[in-house]
Amino acid sequence: MESKKGIEAFEKTERLIVVAAHPDDLESLCGGVVTFLTRRGVQIFSANCTLGDIGAQDANMVRPALASTRLAETEEAARILGITKTFNLGHHDGELLPDLNLRGQIARLYRLTQADTLLTFDPYWTGQIHPDHRAAGQAALDAYMPAKMPLYRPEQLNESQAGLGCLEQVFFFSTDRDPDVFVDVTAVYKTKLAACMAHRSQFPKGEESLEWLKEIDRRQGEAIDATYAESFKEIRVW
Ligand SMILES: [Zn+2]
Repeated sequence: MESKKGIEAFEKTERLIVVAAHPDDLESLCGGVVTFLTRRGVQIFSANCTLGDIGAQDANMVRPALASTRLAETEEAARILGITKTFNLGHHDGELLPDLNLRGQIARLYRLTQADTLLTFDPYWTGQIHPDHRAAGQAALDAYMPAKMPLYRPEQLNESQAGLGCLEQVFFFSTDRDPDVFVDVTAVYKTKLAACMAHRSQFPKGEESLEWLKEIDRRQGEAIDATYAESFKEIRVW
């Protein structure tokens, strides 16, 4: 049986892209690992598929205003984590589909960023109840192969900086399907929480609004005797 890996699972990573569904997914699901990697000089690209424009309990909130608030919060969190660049694919929250359009949009980002490592949602976790999370993970995985093929949407290759996709490693977060990477994020937990708290529209009471997240990270930590951990499933790609 293979033993569990820690942060060394990312030792070859130089350019990492996180494909998420909503503003705050990256921060809450892999903000600790991202912090470790940015400190090591890894370039990190954040791609959110939706605007997060239904993420409010107040029915009087206007969706475009919420979308622009959430874009600004994403930028603030990115500054805290040291993220190189953020992208938003502009889809409406709650309506994301893993269709050919989304696949093409994500493939373009693999080509533009020249990322070698992908972090995204596990689309196959049966407990994944959020359709946007499943759709983001599925489309991110489905874009992996065509992004490497020169005849797939060749116009994307005319953009400056773009080259054929060069992803080599894929990790899923938000999975309970036997994760094989557990990273102790206790040492960077303050930074992770600060990035989450930058999403004030979601967590208006600051750290008090994040007890649920600390509980998840504590539970993941139990597997490796750490106070807080993030876990991932590494996908073997040939
Ligand atoms: Zn989400």
